[in-house]
Amino acid sequence: MAQEDIFKKLTAHCKEYGYVFPSSEIYDGLSAIYDYGQHGVELKNNIRKYWWDSMVLLHENIVGIDSAIFMHPAIWKASGHVDAFNDPLIDNRDSKKRYRADILIEEHMAGIDGKIDREIGKAARRFGEAFDEKQYRETNKRVLSYQEKLDGISARYSKAMNDNNLQELRQIILDSEIVCPVSGTRNWTEVRQFNLMFSTETGSTAEGANKIYLRPETAQGIFVNFLNVQKTGRMKLPFGIAQVGKAFRNEIVARQFIFRMREFEQMEMQFFVKPGTELEWFEYWKEARIRWFRALGFGDDNYRFHDHTKLAHYANAATDIEYKFPFGFREVEGIHSRTDFDLRQHQQYSGKRMQYFDPEKGESYIPCVVETSIGLDRMFLHIISASYNEEELKKDDGSSDMRVVMKLPAFLAPVKLAVMPLVRKDGLPEIAEKIIQNLKFSFNCQYDDKDSIGRRYRRQDAIGTPYCITIDHQTREDETLTIRYRDSMIQERVAVSQLPEIIGEKVSFEGPLRKIQDE
Ligand code: ATP
Repeated sequence: MAQEDIFKKLTAHCKEYGYVFPSSEIYDGLSAIYDYGQHGVELKNNIRKYWWDSMVLLHENIVGIDSAIFMHPAIWKASGHVDAFNDPLIDNRDSKKRYRADILIEEHMAGIDGKIDREIGKAARRFGEAFDEKQYRETNKRVLSYQEKLDGISARYSKAMNDNNLQELRQIILDSEIVCPVSGTRNWTEVRQFNLMFSTETGSTAEGANKIYLRPETAQGIFVNFLNVQKTGRMKLPFGIAQVGKAFRNEIVARQFIFRMREFEQMEMQFFVKPGTELEWFEYWKEARIRWFRALGFGDDNYRFHDHTKLAHYANAATDIEYKFPFGFREVEGIHSRTDFDLRQHQQYSGKRMQYFDPEKGESYIPCVVETSIGLDRMFLHIISASYNEEELKKDDGSSDMRVVMKLPAFLAPVKLAVMPLVRKDGLPEIAEKIIQNLKFSFNCQYDDKDSIGRRYRRQDAIGTPYCITIDHQTREDETLTIRYRDSMIQERVAVSQLPEIIGEKVSFEGPLRKIQDE
């Protein structure tokens, strides 16, 4: 299915079930800005907690902070954002649509990669067991010609980005015959640089006003607090500082639902280490972070590392963790070994020493940093697109029905338990209410007595509620009820008193957190 159709489907589902709403909708919305609804906010909180606990609970040497969105403007000069936080943009003269030149080229390359994958897939089916992928890649003419094309574009693209050569980027677009997806033409403008930072002003009078930026990443708030935390927490290297918070980028491409937003949340952790050990820590964090993803149970093969061959001047290693979205592998997290660049820059610009006194060596130095940086909203999109299922259900009479079910990991699901009285009389609603009053301290419960039980199940499936319980007349007599499991749709009779145990185990964060602990 095309990327746009998938986004359409997910967007509609998220809106219908209280996950994500377009911002300012009654005023026709605001491009690339979204609001989270009653279920979305719960899922987001749970993802945030999963990340936070995996950092701060599981590591004695990682602590959290919450720094302000506004920071001294010199910080963004020191970090390089004022001068170099740019995207190359290009317009199509016929459709008047604006694109990121780098993304047009990357998507074109992903398209060629997809063609290679399809050739390999076809051949694998044809040859069966005997298929040798490596040999096929090295000998099949069609695959070789795609690969040659891909390597050619990739080399030119890397060089152009490194050299900041905007003319060459345009030339690659022309030579690769990339067309505008809207107009279908190749009538492209020049490529221009565009700074992604939003700015505003502080100060009440025009004369006294100062230009100030909305932070485009949370990391700088960590760097400038490095010594505050180190000293007040008496932290010894290696140690980490974690932060979750809003970031703002004036993104040019804004047609991708919550994949690319202008206001979004990041979950970042900067790990400060002794110079010379950073590449070992980089490997450590690569493994730790991929375990975090895999513990969700969406399939190990749906994640891959994309190591950067072209490194920013301050990095000595970098990789992205990519998830296989329904529209292809895309970055969800970046892991970067940033050397001592950031602290050194802040030392230079602020005139304050940003050094760590190493009691073992008896000397001071600027530590190196390995950072892990993940978008909370992009992770949200990953979880909902991985959980969204349309299932055909065969009925006994041979006909079939359809259900949309969000197979969210139970510990992340916004609602853990839907409590449903079979009928709205005979004291059943009161029993349901009593159960909720009892369980609400541990689980997010939802009361639902509208429509038939079947329709209520469908509604909860669409929300992703892992457990539904039905109170019927028998409940009044023997304190048992029916529990129905979302994924298997199996129903069983259990005692009311068993509920905390049955639900508690599956919705606890402990299981996934234990899985990602260091072996
Ligand atoms: P991209 O290449 O997709 O623009 P990036 O490499 O600029 O991303 P980083 O600056 O490394 O991204 O940010 C770390 C993470 O923050 C990304 O992996 C992504 O999950 C998230 N992120 C970045 N920009 C956005 C955005 N505009 N909307 C939502 N999430 C974002």
